[in-house]
Amino acid sequence: MSYALLFEVGTTERGAIQFLQRHQCLRQAPNCHRPGCGRSMSLVDDGSGHGRLIWRCATHKGEKIPTKANSYWHNSNVPLHKHMQILFNWSHKIGGLKTVDQTGVGEKTVYEWFGWYRDICSTWLLNNPYKIGGIGVVVQVDESVVAYRKNHVGRVIPQKWVFGGYCKDQGIGFFEYVERRDAATLLPLIRKYVHPGSIICSDLWASYQQVANIPVNPPYQHGTVNHSQNFVDPVTGVHTNAVEAYWSRMKARLKEYHGVPSATLASHLDEFMWMDLHGKSGGRQTMETLLLHLSQWRPVP
Ligand SMILES: [Zn+2]
Repeated sequence: MSYALLFEVGTTERGAIQFLQRHQCLRQAPNCHRPGCGRSMSLVDDGSGHGRLIWRCATHKGEKIPTKANSYWHNSNVPLHKHMQILFNWSHKIGGLKTVDQTGVGEKTVYEWFGWYRDICSTWLLNNPYKIGGIGVVVQVDESVVAYRKNHVGRVIPQKWVFGGYCKDQGIGFFEYVERRDAATLLPLIRKYVHPGSIICSDLWASYQQVANIPVNPPYQHGTVNHSQNFVDPVTGVHTNAVEAYWSRMKARLKEYHGVPSATLASHLDEFMWMDLHGKSGGRQTMETLLLHLSQWRPVP
């Protein structure tokens, strides 16, 4: 964990603003709109006593622009350096309650912003779809119940299914929340996430029977494994613990949220996939990549 980064972006409003400007997520100094002026505005204390800053023309002191204007954070009353503390924690997979404790920001706000950061992951995945596998490469697919839990009055929440795939050779996978486990749901997802010609390895669940008939070129090959020999590689005959590890990591991540409601399950899976693709080299890299993807999605003026 980079305490230097936390200190740089999470201590002062000026530090947070400069960091976000450097990552193209916050505007550079605007020019004064007063006719005939056009002077570059400067950062000054907004006089609220909360240490917040505002853009102001040195000549026309009535000309002010909020620092968050037109940014991802423009609707929030929380200062930017607090937002950077929240984003730092999100990037380091530090949970919501710890974040509340460490930042002093309210629980509702913290979880809301974790959600807004997950939205950046979802948007990136939507704009950058990827496929795993390849000709003759094994992709293991499976479905599993996640987020089984009781609610606050002890009622059991209905089961929720996740469909996923993993390619051990490439170390990449995918997950998608599914409402049904029928062929009409699962086969299009295989086509969406798996390169033609891959060897799709599944259990004997009926929905997979038509895998070899999915219209792709070259067609998929289909191998089945009996669940009693959980995840045996059809080519090498070796147990593929990597697949199980991939599922376990995803489920562990959901558990950190103490169960995830249906409405946000898909976005939690997106966050997991995005982190798996971009978050392997540490929290600082994760934070900077998220800001890069935000700046690509919503360029600042
Ligand atoms: Zn001016």
